[in-house]
Parts: sequence; structure tokens; C-alpha cells
Amino acid sequence: MKQHLYDNNNIFAKIIRGEVSCKKLDECPHTLTFYDINPQAPIHVLVIPKGAYIDIDDFSIKASVEEQAAFVAAIGRAAKLTGAFEKGYRIISNVGAFGHQEVPHLHVHILGGEPIGPIRGR
Ligand code: 5GP
Repeated sequence: MKQHLYDNNNIFAKIIRGEVSCKKLDECPHTLTFYDINPQAPIHVLVIPKGAYIDIDDFSIKASVEEQAAFVAAIGRAAKLTGAFEKGYRIISNVGAFGHQEVPHLHVHILGGEPIGPIRGR
């Protein structure tokens, strides 16, 4: 069953509140971008909204137009700042159990720096 109540104690909420540290790449009033603790590619960063949203479903319904625009802009900026945009990259946002989402705060993975391969490991 998909989670419907935001968990204020998830690890990304703690990072936003400054209770847990992260290696920050970029920040704006609505977003934070930092390096994944367990990188799956030479470039692996996570873009998150600062607001309390569980996943892209939650965000697309509840976030303001300003927050949504800031989130998309932050993804583009992260691709530039990491250099991932030069040769291409993949963005992934896992949702719920079937999507294998581990942290219940919306995040987009940016993976690059080498060929990322097919969309599934076939
Ligand atoms: P998900 O499976 O939810 O899409 O991805 C969660 C991601 O968060 C994983 O790639 C994991 O390595 C990363 N992660 C989990 N805990 C931390 C943390 O404390 N700091 C950072 N920087 N990344 C984390």
C-alpha cells in the first residue's frame, strides 16, 4: 500500500532541517541538491524539494507552480553544475513499492559520467 502521510523523520527531512549533513551541490529557496551517499555512477546527485512531499504524485497535486518550476530548474542546473549535460545522463524518480522508493521524500536521481545503459538491466 502506498504511503499517504509524510514522515517528518525521513532522512531527507533531516538533511533539509540541517540535522544530518550532506555534500551540497546547489540550493535555492525551494530546492536542495546534494551528492548521493552511495553513488551508482561517477555522477550521482539527488534533487529534492524543501517542502514535505512524498513523491512526484504528491508533489504534482500539492506543490505550488513556483515550487514545481523551481524543481525543474534545479534539475537542469544540477546537470550543468555536475557536467552531466555534456554527454548525457538519466533522471529517475522512484515512486512507492513497485518503483523501489527507499526514502519517502520526493527526489530525482541524476546519473551520468559514463554510459548508464538501458532503462532496465535486461
Ligand atoms: P530511492 O531508492 O528512494 O529512490 O533512493 C534513495 C537514495 O538516497 C539512495 O540512492 C541512497 O543512497 C540515498 N541516501 C540514503 N540515505 C542518504 C543520506 O543520508 N545521505 C545521502 N546523501 N544520500 C542518502
